[in-house]
Amino acid sequence: MESDSVTKSCSGTQRKKLRSLNLKNLKLRDVNIKELMENSWKFLRRKWQLVTVICLMLFIPLIYGLNSSSAVLIVVDKQPLAVVENESQGKEILENVKNEVAEQYGITIAGFDTEISFKEGDPKDGSMLLPGEELNEELKKRINWLADCWVIDITGKPKLYLASEEAAQKALESVKQQYLPTADEQLEILETKFMEEVEIVSTAGPLKELITEAQAVEKMARGLDKIIQHSVKNGDSLWSIAHANNLTVSELQEMNPQLTGTLLQPGQELNLVKAEPLLTVVTTYQTTVEEKIPYKTVYESDSSMWRGQQSVVCSGVNGQREVTYRVTTVNDIETQKESIIEKILEEPVSRIVKSGTKVIMASRGDGGSGKLGWPLRGRLTSYYGWRGREFHTGLDIDGVTGDPIYAAEDGVVIERGWRGNYGYCVAIDHGDGLSTLYAHLSSIGVSMGQTVSRGDYIGKCGSTGRSTGSHLHFEVRINGSHKNPLNFLDR
Ligand SMILES: [Zn+2]
Repeated sequence: MESDSVTKSCSGTQRKKLRSLNLKNLKLRDVNIKELMENSWKFLRRKWQLVTVICLMLFIPLIYGLNSSSAVLIVVDKQPLAVVENESQGKEILENVKNEVAEQYGITIAGFDTEISFKEGDPKDGSMLLPGEELNEELKKRINWLADCWVIDITGKPKLYLASEEAAQKALESVKQQYLPTADEQLEILETKFMEEVEIVSTAGPLKELITEAQAVEKMARGLDKIIQHSVKNGDSLWSIAHANNLTVSELQEMNPQLTGTLLQPGQELNLVKAEPLLTVVTTYQTTVEEKIPYKTVYESDSSMWRGQQSVVCSGVNGQREVTYRVTTVNDIETQKESIIEKILEEPVSRIVKSGTKVIMASRGDGGSGKLGWPLRGRLTSYYGWRGREFHTGLDIDGVTGDPIYAAEDGVVIERGWRGNYGYCVAIDHGDGLSTLYAHLSSIGVSMGQTVSRGDYIGKCGSTGRSTGSHLHFEVRINGSHKNPLNFLDR
């Protein structure tokens, strides 16, 4: 009995050793044959039991396994998702889900572009979904279904998928309408077109990207938000960047959660969201408007009036015309406007103004106009008029030798040089009978016949001729007769 228990738990080589030991023991104990036979039979019986157990352990799972070898896993995007009896059951489920999706969206499902495969799997795998509502929902979600739809394809821009061709056309039409000029009876739209190449094409598009007509209009007209990077430059502030991009500071901060304060570092990158319209609408229209023709002003010179004096002979009247313009706008902005037909309804009447050319104006008191410029500014030391028995023909203005003397008005030099009591003197003819004279000069700065303008330098103050001290003797004559200069000088 001892030997049996040992055999059960020992390996082959150990067993051989034990067997020889038994034989030795047998010899020693002098055992008979019968006993030996009995022991051998017991041993074999035990062994068969063992073999049977082993066989059962091996075959039961194998038989079970063979029975369920048709179980497969549905693998979506390389990820096992569910276990089903066989591939055809899996395909049937997919077909049903496809029909459910089609019904739900009211659209024909053309297929899908998700990788789906079947592989042998363990039907007892608890991590897999089993056929049922939960699996259907999961498949609806995970599979990228392709719908029979229409795409608005704008060259170089993201595609827009719509359920019907009609919706796509209406969306494009709406975008055009948004940019049409305000309704006006006289307005005739000649053409609206897109600057971009636009096509509406039938396609199998991703169901998830399907949008409505209204969404398509908004995307095309208002544009898609696009994030761009702004590199901070010296002098930039959150406010200035926000302002330059039609944002508020808080919007800018929202786009850049990495900002901790309001201080910016040059070179720092900020995110800005900018709208990028997908379409540019070019509209050409014709419009007819009535507009006024502004009158012109015509000046006629009149020598009977003093210079600077004007009189309106005829007040102007605006005319009226009817003009047809051809206007081109690009997204609402007028880029071209040309008049193609113009019809005068009423000619304008010019405004006629008479403008005086006479240099010195009509008299005030002693024929003076108060319009001559002062040839020298200084204390008046002697006035025009009787000085005892002598008549003083001019005005004496105190000055220092060398002070500049200026022409009192535009004119022509008619005299320059020495003249007796006057000493060195200059006389200027201003036209219309008016002349001025400047005497006792220390030097003369003009030549005979020279044209001078009011305020021009003509010589220097002095005390030449009959003079008691340096001053300017200034005379005004009209048609050769002396006049009181004070009545002519600027006040
Ligand atoms: Zn004098």
